[in-house]
Amino acid sequence: MQVFHKIADLQNRLFDDRKKSKSVGLVPTMGALHDGHASLVKKSIEDNDITVVSVFVNPTQFNDPKDLSSYPRDLDADCKLLETIGADYVFAPSVEEMYPTPDNRHFEFPPVTTVMEGAHRPGHFNGVCQVVSRLFYIVRPDRAYFGEKDWQQIAVVKAMVKSLCLNVKIVECPIVRESDGLARSSRNVLLSDDERKTAPNIFKALKEGVEYSKTHSVKETHDYVVNKINAIDGLDVEYFEIVDGDSLQDVENWNDSDYIVGCITVYCGKKPVRLIDHIKFKS
Ligand code: AMP
Repeated sequence: MQVFHKIADLQNRLFDDRKKSKSVGLVPTMGALHDGHASLVKKSIEDNDITVVSVFVNPTQFNDPKDLSSYPRDLDADCKLLETIGADYVFAPSVEEMYPTPDNRHFEFPPVTTVMEGAHRPGHFNGVCQVVSRLFYIVRPDRAYFGEKDWQQIAVVKAMVKSLCLNVKIVECPIVRESDGLARSSRNVLLSDDERKTAPNIFKALKEGVEYSKTHSVKETHDYVVNKINAIDGLDVEYFEIVDGDSLQDVENWNDSDYIVGCITVYCGKKPVRLIDHIKFKS
């Protein structure tokens, strides 16, 4: 496995690979890697001759400076894990390398960029599109791998790819959870022991919500899940939206769509740590 910090070095290497007709998979990450990321890397290795994993904490997608400064970083541990899995190249650029000048491009793909995370984290998806488009231009992957954990991000990246006419297939990978149901996330290390014990109640309430939805309306199910979670000390729901899985538009009745997902964001603990999760109601 080779680690690149410079765009030109990675591109030279990929140029040689492409001359040999090798296919290239890209897994964009912000590091602090865990089994969730590993599942994407393994899928890319299965599908492609070369797998590039980018490790870059992208400042332009953070709307909260404290969230950016507290974001966990450990490139050495990430490289060890990636080497074990069998990734070919790690791309870990500096901020100056990725953004030699400020990125003034503005991406908006309503409605997928304006609802949920788009409404609650202004500028977040603009930053995601800035960095993901740069990574796509740098690596020119045949396929790029994204986790369903960030449900809305996949819809946004797909809208961007379509809008920029990029020739890359977006591969969606299922969410990986801890054994107690908590969605694996780089942010989980920021939870205290007590908060870590409380956090699995988010997915528990979502699962109970699916049972409850069998005999109740969308609105009743929404309120049931929100009330269940808010009743637990240390958990505070920012939003829970029951939406069409592709368009991300709210549904009012269970027969409005064949593909219905509930997306949730919950603040956990005192700092607090912002956790996201989702559950499929219909697929
Ligand atoms: P991040 O490093 O948080 O930006 O995540 C990089 C990629 O890994 C994104 O496509 C995420 O959706 C994906 N990912 C993060 N956590 C998980 C998880 N628990 N299961 C599956 N994919 C994940």
